[in-house]
Amino acid sequence: MGTYSIAVLPGDGIGPEVVEQAVRVLQSVGKRFGHTFHLTPALVGGAAIEAEGEAISDATMELCHKSDAILFGAVGGLPSFQGPNSKKQPESALFRLRKELELYANLRPVRPFKTLLDASTIKREVLEGTDLLVVRELTGGLYFGKPSEIRETEHGAEAIDTLIYTEAEIARIVRTACELARTRQKKVTSVDKANVLSSSRLWRRVADQVAREFPDITLEHQLVDSCSMQLIRAPRQFDVVVTENMFGDILTDEASMLAGSLGMLPSASLGTRRTAHGLFGLYEPIHGTAPDITGQNKANPIAAILSVALLLRYSLGLHEEADVIEATVERVIAQGYRTLDLREEGKTILGTKEMGNVIAEAIEK
Ligand code: NAD
Repeated sequence: MGTYSIAVLPGDGIGPEVVEQAVRVLQSVGKRFGHTFHLTPALVGGAAIEAEGEAISDATMELCHKSDAILFGAVGGLPSFQGPNSKKQPESALFRLRKELELYANLRPVRPFKTLLDASTIKREVLEGTDLLVVRELTGGLYFGKPSEIRETEHGAEAIDTLIYTEAEIARIVRTACELARTRQKKVTSVDKANVLSSSRLWRRVADQVAREFPDITLEHQLVDSCSMQLIRAPRQFDVVVTENMFGDILTDEASMLAGSLGMLPSASLGTRRTAHGLFGLYEPIHGTAPDITGQNKANPIAAILSVALLLRYSLGLHEEADVIEATVERVIAQGYRTLDLREEGKTILGTKEMGNVIAEAIEK
């Protein structure tokens, strides 16, 4: 029995709808295992710009700093904040959270449920047995390097982005990947473009150095272009994949399609701060705000619910509780319950709330 503090930031669009169900499931876990979760809600994204004038306020940042973990929905998609000229971008909240909380490791597990193999656009025989974890560096590389600008020259406009990585940044993410591999199949695939980029050559050198600290782990290197092909050709070959920010951004979207629907995939962004129970982190479904289905009780809440499982495992050290959520979701799907995005002949289609209820009640039993 334990007491834990969690900041709950539902955000915009379907964010609040799926987070409501994730919270419902968290409370069921609390009931079953006798834990107390102190949940503090706060606005983020477009909702926060409207009510508080900025995508994430200092007070909300302070709340996040003090919590054991953050449960996050999604931000963006409101017409009033769209376009490059809009001064206030809901998405800036995520960049502030990542940078100030040093959320440097983004984890995306991809393990297609057996009963959903036919929901993917990839053949069942290719998918069967896939169980991989992408570990993406989240606070360095091209997305944060300076300068990053378009500038006028006497020969016309030119643009520059800066791809910079320090040895320390590479070492900590590769170390995280190796530690995670120890709890899995003990294989790490480091992905780079070392045949072209200096940053990748340093990445490879540091990855090799770090791997020496982990003699039980097999480290291999793949070039990013080849890896993107291998991910859909033979995904079973991967256990833990570690890569830099932009390659990870692209590869994780590709890998997500192995599991069939965006509505099924959770993510964790881990920081450097240790809590009393584990590593501080932010947990969110990988999907966005889905403006096309907002407010219609159509969103699949499973990605948000599985994000709660990751939160319990990594930030609160509650492994059995996390396993129970994952097993319950798998069982509910095997029983034939689906949301609209997973529509299949002969299955029972549920709304967002109803799917949350079925999973929460199954956990309490
Ligand atoms: P999206 O993920 O919101 O939606 C893509 C498609 O998938 C839509 O057809 C949507 O209906 C469907 N979908 C997504 N989640 C679903 C779910 N849980 N259940 C059922 N169907 C689901 O991506 P988009 O349309 O490219 O982006 C919409 C907005 O979300 C944009 O403003 C984008 O910037 C933002 N976004 C935010 C985050 C985040 O907060 N981390 C991530 C991605 C996109």
